[in-house]
Amino acid sequence: MRFSRAYIPTTKESPKDAQLPSHIYLSRAGFVAQVASGLYNFLPLGKRVLRKIENIINEEMSACGALEVDLSFVTPAELWQESGRIEKFGKELLRFRDRKDNLFVLGPTHEEMMVSIVRNRVTSYKQLPLNVYQVKTKFRDEARPRFGLMRAREFVMKDGYSFHSSTEDLDREFDAMEAAYKKILERLGLNFRIVEADSGAIGGTGSKELMVLAQSGEDTLAVCDTCEYGANVEAARRAPRSVFPEAPSADFSRFKTPNVKSIDDLSNFFHVDPYYTLKAVVMRAVYTEGSEPVCFFIRGCDELQEVKARNSVGAIDLVDISESELSEIGLIPGFIGPLDQDKIRFVMDKDTLNATSMICGANEMDYHFVGVDLSVMKDAVFADLVTVQAGDGCPHCGGKMEHTKGIEVGHIFKLGTVYSAPLKAEFLDENGRAQPFIMGTYGMGVSRLVAAVIEQHHDERGCIWTHATAPYLVNVMVSNIKEESHLAYAEELYNTLLSRGIETILDDRKERFGFKMSDAELIGFPFTIIIGKELENGQVQIMIRESREILTVDAENVLDKIEELRR
Ligand code: ATP
Ligand code: MG
Repeated sequence: MRFSRAYIPTTKESPKDAQLPSHIYLSRAGFVAQVASGLYNFLPLGKRVLRKIENIINEEMSACGALEVDLSFVTPAELWQESGRIEKFGKELLRFRDRKDNLFVLGPTHEEMMVSIVRNRVTSYKQLPLNVYQVKTKFRDEARPRFGLMRAREFVMKDGYSFHSSTEDLDREFDAMEAAYKKILERLGLNFRIVEADSGAIGGTGSKELMVLAQSGEDTLAVCDTCEYGANVEAARRAPRSVFPEAPSADFSRFKTPNVKSIDDLSNFFHVDPYYTLKAVVMRAVYTEGSEPVCFFIRGCDELQEVKARNSVGAIDLVDISESELSEIGLIPGFIGPLDQDKIRFVMDKDTLNATSMICGANEMDYHFVGVDLSVMKDAVFADLVTVQAGDGCPHCGGKMEHTKGIEVGHIFKLGTVYSAPLKAEFLDENGRAQPFIMGTYGMGVSRLVAAVIEQHHDERGCIWTHATAPYLVNVMVSNIKEESHLAYAEELYNTLLSRGIETILDDRKERFGFKMSDAELIGFPFTIIIGKELENGQVQIMIRESREILTVDAENVLDKIEELRR
């Protein structure tokens, strides 16, 4: 490509609301242009990067025997009614009616549609397994579209779905997909971690997320400093405690604690470690139909993990509750406890099971119970409700857990029969019995990956593309195009690079050197070959974008040098 013929509208202006480097640089360097909130046009450079990521995905998918399809973006709402997801997806699902008044949605994901293409077509276990995928536009009317391509409303996803006749076969395919996803991210040149993820209402352990490690990531990960274990904090587990703070000694009694409401107050008042106090967090659990207040009891030293809490009551959301709502229920903020509690549904953290020497609210103004033995609560509901904190023990190796930030670029999930059963997608097993397909789903955020590369690879001058994602690997820049011999040499070098299969752009614009250099840095080509005055001594320079190091090389060796650098 010749720069003079390209369409790369670079600018010094950042988008108004842009905070993240990827949002700023992808706009400023002319990769994408915003159309409306959460909607982006891909300009030629952006399209090239997107295509490159797609190509790598396609190669790795076909190496695994997955089959590419392309499903209609507009999907009939009936399918979403059949699966029961139409309510669950809520306002993210964009619905509309056609001229005949039929209701449709813009596909935010395609489980239902994929099931519908195999339903009644794949009828025997002999036709299984099957893994079908597409790279496709998705639409989710996100409540807060932000961060450019990172959380858009219209975005590109690779979504794959596998169909099996046994859970063993699903397990095998899931592992193969995990390996393929790992390979894709390695080829893209990204530093990432595969972590255990929340499985939502479905439960089980078959949910993993691929996280590109970056400060700006929206997800918090708990990772072990010693072994491979890592999990989204929404799903992270920890080893049981091995050292315990000194326990307060008190017989069970009701104790006057005037105005002692917070965990801090309580631990100061009694001079006990918050470990021995019980924290009550009341929230309103929202279901597809209706809502109810729920109280979660955890140790005072712990923090409630809202996704775990939500799952423990099967809600689709948890929202804050006001003090006036609390008093309507008859609860006294600061003094809520589980003993004789019949005013509110409650769930207790599993670390409070059979806990002794505890202090908890007495459900009476200005009173707490001390010396509480929670083994009396054996009929209560217990669940894992708390956030794994830095310093907690790893559940696998006993190493220390620490927190880091990640960008979710992929999610693989063992679905089982959650879609096939309600959608009645069945096959005949070896004994001629009808069974719902056992399914897996494998998503990857293709357009989000474009941004993730930049979140991980940029500096204050702009983008730094990895070799596999760069729109062009090499930029051949002529300092002064009026020098005819320089231009002629550059043209020849450009053609040779192209003939060697190296993606190259020739910056033949009639612009100042400084201007072209700052564009090269903003756009982030891995290598810029600068052809200037040194050519008279038979030399050119190579600027390595990542380090900004400038190498001076003999013109006759420049091709070898580029070959060496790209390896
Ligand atoms: P998130 O937690 O970030 O909202 P999700 O869990 O809703 O994502 P999935 O349904 O698992 O996302 O979709 C698969 C992949 O699609 C995600 O891993 C992510 O990379 C990408 N993705 C999801 N939502 C968006 C979005 N709004 N913009 C860009 N990419 C997205
Ligand atoms: Mg996800």
